[in-house]
Amino acid sequence: METDVIIIGAGSSGLSAAKELTRLGLSFTLVEGSHRIGGRAYSEEIAPGVWFDLGCSYLHQGETNPFVAIADELGVVLGKDKSDLFDESRIGLYKNGVPLNSAEREAYTAYLAECFTAVIAAADRGEDVAIVDLVDLENEFATILMHNWADSWTRDLDEISSVDFANFVGGSDIPVLNGYGNLVASWGSDVMVSLNTKVERIDWSRDGVSAETSRGTLRGRTALCTVSTGILAAGEIDFVPGLPDWKMEAVVGLPTGTENKICLHFDQDVFGPEGRGFYRIWNDDGAAGGFEAGVMGHNTAVAFSGGRFAVWLEKQGQQAGHDYAVDRVAEAFGNDIRKHVTRSIVTAWSTEPWTWGSYSCALPGQAHQRTELARALDDRLFFAGEATTVSDYGCCHGAYRSGIRAAQEISQTLAS
Ligand SMILES: Cc1cc2nc3c(=O)[nH]c(=O)nc-3n(C[C@H](O)[C@H](O)[C@H](O)COP(=O)(O)OP(=O)(O)OC[C@H]3O[C@@H](n4cnc5c(N)ncnc54)[C@H](O)[C@@H]3O)c2cc1C
Repeated sequence: METDVIIIGAGSSGLSAAKELTRLGLSFTLVEGSHRIGGRAYSEEIAPGVWFDLGCSYLHQGETNPFVAIADELGVVLGKDKSDLFDESRIGLYKNGVPLNSAEREAYTAYLAECFTAVIAAADRGEDVAIVDLVDLENEFATILMHNWADSWTRDLDEISSVDFANFVGGSDIPVLNGYGNLVASWGSDVMVSLNTKVERIDWSRDGVSAETSRGTLRGRTALCTVSTGILAAGEIDFVPGLPDWKMEAVVGLPTGTENKICLHFDQDVFGPEGRGFYRIWNDDGAAGGFEAGVMGHNTAVAFSGGRFAVWLEKQGQQAGHDYAVDRVAEAFGNDIRKHVTRSIVTAWSTEPWTWGSYSCALPGQAHQRTELARALDDRLFFAGEATTVSDYGCCHGAYRSGIRAAQEISQTLAS
């Protein structure tokens, strides 16, 4: 089949590219290896009518996030009243099962601000170093800081680039009450996708591109690759000729890390109306974690783990993940909650074969690789996906924007 663009991957970036190509009057064939669209945007029903997002769940950068308008247009309900969920002044902080008093909260907030300032200042000086070298690890709140940032950036502090950290633009975080994955699936449902079609080999050695898939060979004038850096690094797709060294350096400099989520469903409201929100919990044994309680308006809690700890916990199996989450929630809401847990869903992103990880994290010294990863090869092989963005990487809407950017690049290239 001849087409203008073979798009590989029907996540947020592949779907937005398909829509933009249509708008620009170009043809495409979109192939997706798995059985569904959405990629890392994926919702499952943990109880009837109660949705849990295994991947993205918040509309970060809510002020400019394109999915806000998309949700409004589709009539999808957003938790706009909870968009200050991660405002540190609203977060519940518990150490050894006891809430911090106001003096402790103040000291915690000051430490956090000091760490942020140190990272941003290093980035402003052009120092792309590991953020671990910029923060005070002797501080009494270092345990929870390390846990919190590993959750958010998917790698531990020794593996996070200061410049990449500083490049991310903050903003409000709007929860999608009935599933961000459902929102993406509904928005993408009008795009023609060939599911269960894994791309195994991409030949870009001659004019145009050919893609060998599990269901036959496709021919296109160009190809747009939107798979994760985990997939590219693992060599899941055989490029002929192989990707040049500078491109592979970008892939390796932006590895996927791990953020896992454990959703607990309770048979009653164990949080109460005042209890809904986000919590950070840690104790003298070194156990730490963050979780949201009832944020989506249901009797659920979602605990997060990140970095090496998340990989280790994933290896321990589902029950260990379940226990970890229950223990964290119990430290804030008491042991009585244990008997109300009805079910859990535990993610395992580091071993997810369609991504090999959660989302990308620039290693120290590698923040510049995001623009390299986005660069096309020979006006024929184009790249999009969350890892190719600079200020909204690791986000569903960043992936969306990258798809549009790539579609426009392709259109200009084909027109010239
Ligand atoms: C635990 C977790 C929490 C997150 N939380 C948030 C959040 O709250 N807010 C937010 O904005 N973002 C969040 N994200 C990130 C967000 O989900 C991703 O950045 C975004 O969905 C990535 O979209 P993408 O199109 O770049 O890649 P993907 O969604 O991975 O799409 C790529 C597609 O390519 C397919 N594919 C892979 N290999 C092949 C092949 N060989 N042939 C054909 N198809 C292939 C995959 O199956 C996949 O569908 C989270 C992610 C995770 C994992």
